[in-house]
Amino acid sequence: MAQDVLCEVSSCVHNINKENRCGATQIYVVNHKEKDAHSSAETDCKTFEPAGL
Ligand code: SF4
Repeated sequence: MAQDVLCEVSSCVHNINKENRCGATQIYVVNHKEKDAHSSAETDCKTFEPAGL
């Protein structure tokens, strides 16, 4: 189980103080555009929630 999730998505409400660390209890990573991923670029975090809305 991942303990420290690093993430550069600073526009997400779960990003701790915009320090590239995720504070969510758990995250759900999915295939990008619903196709089987063959690289990290083809995955997305579905737990993302926009900050500041
Ligand atoms: S929920 Fe996903 S997008 Fe948001 S900070 Fe965590 S890993 Fe990044």
